[in-house]
Amino acid sequence: MRVLVTGGAGYIGSHTVHELVREDHHVVVYDNLSKGHKSAVPAGVKFVKGDIRDQELLAQVLKENEIETVVHFAADSLVGESMQQPAKYYHNNVVATLALLDTMRECAVNKIVFSSTAAVYGEPEQWPITEDMPTCPTNVYGRTKLIIEGILADFAMAYGLKYVSLRYFNAAGAHIEGLTGEDHNPETHLVPLILKTALGQREAISIYGTDYSTPDGTCIRDYIHVTDLAAAHVLALKHLVHGGECRVYNLGSQAGFSVREVIDKAKEITGVDFAVREDERRAGDPAVLVASSARIKAELGWKPVWSQLNQIISSAWAWHRKN
Ligand code: UDP
Repeated sequence: MRVLVTGGAGYIGSHTVHELVREDHHVVVYDNLSKGHKSAVPAGVKFVKGDIRDQELLAQVLKENEIETVVHFAADSLVGESMQQPAKYYHNNVVATLALLDTMRECAVNKIVFSSTAAVYGEPEQWPITEDMPTCPTNVYGRTKLIIEGILADFAMAYGLKYVSLRYFNAAGAHIEGLTGEDHNPETHLVPLILKTALGQREAISIYGTDYSTPDGTCIRDYIHVTDLAAAHVLALKHLVHGGECRVYNLGSQAGFSVREVIDKAKEITGVDFAVREDERRAGDPAVLVASSARIKAELGWKPVWSQLNQIISSAWAWHRKN
C-alpha cells in the first residue's frame, strides 16, 4: 500500500508507521512537528514537515508519491485544553481536516482512516459502549471529532469517499521493542504522568475527582495498548484498499480500570511508592468509558494482544526509564 500518515511523528502515528514499515508498505509521514518528534519516525521513511492546511504542499506530496490512502492522526487531542481553548480545536481539527479532505479530492485520493475517539459518546448510559449508541460529547475535543465523522459521512455520500473511523478509548503503553513511546509536551495523560512521578520527575500524581459514581469514586477508562491500536489501522487500510465499505469501529480492550487501580498497578510494577494527591474534577471528563470492540473483531479480525493493564504499564515503564 502507498500510505500518507498525517501526524505520523506523534504517539499513535509513529507506532502505526512502525507497523506499516514492518509489513513493507510505502509510507510518507506528513507532520508539522507542533507535537510530534522527527526522531519518532523510523529511519528510511520519507518525512515531510508540513501542515495539512498547506494545500499546495500536501497536493504535491500526494501526487509525487502516488498516495492511495491517508491515515489521518494530525490533531489536537487534550480534553482539558479543548474546554479552555475551543477555537484552537475547531481550527486545528475541523478546519484543517476539511482542508485535507479537499486536497485529497483534488488529487483523486479517496480513502482515509481517521483517528476518532471514545469522547464522541459523552456520558453513555450503558457499558460496554457499542458503535450504534448515541453520540453526545461532553467536551470540545469529542465534539470536533464527531463533526469530522459527520463530514466524512457526507463526503462519502456525495463524493464517494471511503473511510474508516476508529474511535480510540485510552491509548497507552509503548513499542514492545522500545522503538518509540509516549512523549507529549506538556504531558497530561494518566499513565505517563504516573510513570514520571515514579521516576521522581514530578512530586505527586493528582487524581482528578474522587466523587464520581464509580466503585472507588475515580473515573474508569478502557486502556488499550498503542501497538494494538496501530495494528487496527493497518487492518482498516487493507479493508479500504480491498474495496471495503465505510465503517466506524471502537477500539478498546473491553476492560475498565479506575484511576486508583491504574495507580496501584503502577506502584506494583515500578516498585515505587510515589505520592498521590486527591484533586478537583477536570472539566469534560465522563465517569466511565469502556468499549465493546466486538464489531472490529468480527469484521476485520482485530485482536488486542498487548492490552492487559500490566503489559501496558510495563512497556511504558521500560520506555520511560530509557528516555
Ligand atoms: N487523570 C487523573 N490525573 C492525571 C491525568 C488524568 O486523574 O494527572 C484521569 C482523568 O481525569 C481521566 C483518566 O485519568 O479520568 C484518563 O485521563 P487521560 O488524560 O489519560 O485520558 P482521556 O481519558 O482524557 O483521554
